[in-house]
Amino acid sequence: MTENQTKSIAMQWVVPTAVLMLVLVIMLFNFTTKSKVNAADTVNRNMTSIAEQCADNFSEQLTLLEKVGKPIAELLGKCTSEEEVCELIEVAMRHSDAYMVYACDEIGNGMSSDGKAIDIAETDYFEAIKASTDVAYTYVANDGTQAQSAVAVSIPVTFQDGNGYLILFYPLSKFEDAVKRVDFAAWNFETLIDDDGNIIVGADGASGMSQGSNLYDELSDTSIEVVRKMRSRIDSRASGMTSVQMGNAKNALVYVPMSMNDWSLVVGVNQAYVDKQVSQQWNTTKTMLYQLVIVIFIFSCVIVVINIISKVRNNEKKRQLEEKADTDLLTGLNNKLATERKIKEFIAQNPKSQSMMFMLDIDNFKKINDTMGHAFGDEVIRSLGQQISAIFRASDIVGRAGGDEFIIFLKNISDADAVRKEAKKVEDFFKDFKAGEYVKYSATASIGVAIFPQEGADWESIYKAADQALYKAKKRGKNQLAFYKDEWAETNPESTSNK
Ligand code: GH3
Ligand code: MG
Repeated sequence: MTENQTKSIAMQWVVPTAVLMLVLVIMLFNFTTKSKVNAADTVNRNMTSIAEQCADNFSEQLTLLEKVGKPIAELLGKCTSEEEVCELIEVAMRHSDAYMVYACDEIGNGMSSDGKAIDIAETDYFEAIKASTDVAYTYVANDGTQAQSAVAVSIPVTFQDGNGYLILFYPLSKFEDAVKRVDFAAWNFETLIDDDGNIIVGADGASGMSQGSNLYDELSDTSIEVVRKMRSRIDSRASGMTSVQMGNAKNALVYVPMSMNDWSLVVGVNQAYVDKQVSQQWNTTKTMLYQLVIVIFIFSCVIVVINIISKVRNNEKKRQLEEKADTDLLTGLNNKLATERKIKEFIAQNPKSQSMMFMLDIDNFKKINDTMGHAFGDEVIRSLGQQISAIFRASDIVGRAGGDEFIIFLKNISDADAVRKEAKKVEDFFKDFKAGEYVKYSATASIGVAIFPQEGADWESIYKAADQALYKAKKRGKNQLAFYKDEWAETNPESTSNK
């Protein structure tokens, strides 16, 4: 393959394929990055949605107390005796998840569902209950009667003799059951916190987070920042998820704001579990991408190889055709046009390089044809062509000019001695030349020699000079070599004729 062919293949196929591959790699890289982010988003959404369901579940349990309490509060307004009040709060107790129900006046005196008199005037939670004019959900650290933490669902009541409240206590011991998902073992903890991070109720002993402590105390400083940023980035009432460092463990924190107060359900999921989920999501896409890249790569390589092979084959065919078009069928030498073209090319590239042009014509060839037959004449031409080309260098130009005439162009014959030496070589050739396989026929030829560029610096003039030298040789009696200028033969006249 020539340098030009290699360049053209590179330009036509290798470069575009390389560019295509580069574009594909960039596209795939972008796609890969986006897919990774998408996979993480999907996992994020799944986790958040599970936590939201849990928060809804918990909310539902609390609002159920409100639903049961509201009609009872209406009826309480119509009660005229303590017995009726007692009966009604027992009904509330039976029809809800409350572990205790209170009915009290606006200063905290009243009765409980187990029939005892109560006075909650001094409790913290009653302060909070009093502050609200509507249904309120209040955290109760200790209700004072059963020493357990709860959420007090308070509904204002207009009694016959004044205002008061119906209070249903939801036991926070039920929190874990309400939010825990059996199918989500990767949860490290779940807590109910307020906006300042105070833990209202926590589930799971492993984390050590319990009510009364603060979630933010468990986080590293940078993680607190991360959580704050997430809380400010997302709508304060929307859910979010972010990774945090808690002691030695990494957790994905899922934040789900609740519909009551400033409470949020916060779930800590094992970060390793989240990462595994992301990589599982992303693995399918990754495998598909790798397969796609491999298929495109192989396809491109096959196309390039097929094209290179067909190009090489075409070039070889073209070269063979050109060679055929240049060849004289009888002798296998250059034909007249190829001889002329090759000499012209050499002259154009080496206008000053001394060279010799021989023009030789078989003597009395018509007679050979007449006496030995045309086929034998052909044999003489073929033998002469093949034998004479063998005595020169491969780089020299040897061609049949037509009929019984040959042209030999010897390149770079630097000095007069070399000129005479080459002339003698041609003369000597004809001393021994014999043609024919069975009948050996000694044919002679007349040879004209012109020296390039002194006797002709272009194709036309050097051809003319060699032709004139040939004419001279014929005129001098054939079977001899004649220079266009006789001086070339003068130092050694013997060598210029073998007549
Ligand atoms: P001279 O000595 O002056 O060169 O005379 P010549 O008889 O060789 O005749 P000339 O060179 O003028 O003509 C060559 C003849 O060769 C003419 C033609 O009949 C014959 N010839 C041309 N081409 C072919 C060929 O391909 N095969 C054969 N057998 N003869 C050819
Ligand atoms: Mg002749």
